[in-house]
Amino acid sequence: ILELRNVSKSFGKQKVLHPLSFDLKKGERICILGPSGCGKSTLLQIVAGLARADGGEVHMEGRVVEKDRTYVPPEKRPVNMVFQDYALWPHMSVRQNIEYGMRRRKTPPEAMRDRLARLQALLRLDGLLDRLPAELSGGQQQRVGIARALATEPAILLMDEPLSNLDVKLRTDMRNELARLLGELSIAALYVTHDMMEAFTIADRILVLRGGHIDQIAEPHVLFERPETPWVAQLMGYHN
Ligand code: ATP
Ligand code: MG
Repeated sequence: ILELRNVSKSFGKQKVLHPLSFDLKKGERICILGPSGCGKSTLLQIVAGLARADGGEVHMEGRVVEKDRTYVPPEKRPVNMVFQDYALWPHMSVRQNIEYGMRRRKTPPEAMRDRLARLQALLRLDGLLDRLPAELSGGQQQRVGIARALATEPAILLMDEPLSNLDVKLRTDMRNELARLLGELSIAALYVTHDMMEAFTIADRILVLRGGHIDQIAEPHVLFERPETPWVAQLMGYHN
């Protein structure tokens, strides 16, 4: 459903993504693991269409969305994104934030009501719908960000450390519920996390990114049993 071919990106002289290629299949979940600054958020932004690649091609649902001068803007791509820093609209209530994308996509009112109710329950948003983002804690804003992205039921969901700001209990509950929901809606996902447990719960495959290179991309058990680089071995908890 998503294919990257030799996608690269630099900021000034700094090469952030070396040409990298991989594909995401329909309904598949790939977790991206890697140290801070290795290019994870940049990669998601390119897929979302929020940043341009310097070179390479991005295909979605069999269409070219980026290649040379071809560039399809974010709202015309079958993707939605949960941002690392939430990026909620500050002047809109929680309800308006969640409904915004659905309205833009002309979702019928009944479907909107159903989804809102479902997301409210899933993400524990009771009593929060009429508040402004500034009146929420970080963890609550994070949950609203997830609800907003799921509301449009995109074919591909991009999530940048979506559970990082939640306490341990809520994080464990939510990672299971999120995994179930993505499965139910058969949403494919690129999911950035630092949390190995999260990656092992959610991922069909794990992509290990380091310094803008793919160290290895494989099913979790393969990564664990046959790490291909010392760095992956270390991530998996082997100590030489
Ligand atoms: P983290 O785990 O800390 O979120 P990350 O893997 O998401 O890190 P990126 O945000 O993709 O890392 O950044 C990769 C590199 O590119 C970093 O060195 C960062 O400083 C640089 N960078 C990111 N965005 C820009 C920008 N708009 N202009 C200049 N440099 C940038
Ligand atoms: Mg990041």
